[in-house]
Amino acid sequence: MSFRIKRLVAATVSQTIGEISCRLRPMTGRRVLMYHAVGEPVVGDRNNIYSISKQLLSQHFAEISEYTNTPVASREDTAELSVSVTFDDGYKSFLTEVVPLAETYQIPIHVFISREFILQGGPIYLSESDVTSLAAHQLVTIGVHGNQHRDLTLISDDEVYSELSVARDWLEQLTGHKASTLSYPYGRVNQRIAQIAADVGFEQGFTSRYGVQSTATNHMLVPRIDVWSRDSVRTLHSKVRGAWSVLKGSHK
Ligand SMILES: [Zn+2]
Repeated sequence: MSFRIKRLVAATVSQTIGEISCRLRPMTGRRVLMYHAVGEPVVGDRNNIYSISKQLLSQHFAEISEYTNTPVASREDTAELSVSVTFDDGYKSFLTEVVPLAETYQIPIHVFISREFILQGGPIYLSESDVTSLAAHQLVTIGVHGNQHRDLTLISDDEVYSELSVARDWLEQLTGHKASTLSYPYGRVNQRIAQIAADVGFEQGFTSRYGVQSTATNHMLVPRIDVWSRDSVRTLHSKVRGAWSVLKGSHK
C-alpha cells in the first residue's frame, strides 16, 4: 500500500469508526509511540512524515500526559492502558527539543540510537557526550538501534549477532547503564532476528508494526504506534485509542 493510500484509509477509518470503537472496546494495553525528529530534516524521509514541529509535539505531550506514562523498559503496565514514548535514530533534536518538553510535562522518554550515527559526532545526530549526559537524565532512557542501522533481515546470523552486541556493549560502556531494549532498524524483523536479539540479551524488541502491547505480546516483537509529522492532537488521540490498528506500519 502506498503511503498516500495508507494515510487516506487510516484517516477514513479513524473518522468513521474511531470514536465508536473506543467506546465499545475495553481500553487496555500499552501504546508505545514512535517518533523520530523535531523541527529538523529526517534522512531519507521522502514523504516528510517523520519530523514534527516543536509546537505540535508540545500539544501531543499535553495529550499524552493525560494517560499513565511508563518508561519503555518497564513491562509491568502492559495490562493497563498506558503510553510510552520512543524516538528512533538519535537525532540532535531529541536533546534540544524533546528533553525540555518532557521536563515540562514530566513524561519519560526513550531514544533508540545507532552506534555509527553517534560516532559521526553531529551535527545531525547526538554525539557521544550528548548520550552520556542524556543517560544521567531522570526522564531519559536509551536503547539500541543497531550498529550501522543495517536491515537485519538481509544479513547472516553472525552479522546480526555482531551488529547488535557491538552496539549494545558500546552503549553500556558509554552510559554505565544496562541496555535491554532494541528497536529494529527500518522496523525490519522476523522470527530469526528476534531470536538472535534475545540470544544477545535484549529483553524487549520494538517493531514498527501498528498495535498495542498486551500481556500476551511477544517481548521481542512489540508493536508500536507510528506518529507522523502532521498528526493533529485529535489524530493522536484516535491512534492511542486504537482506531488506526488496521495499519501495518513501516518506517525509515
Ligand atoms: Zn531508524
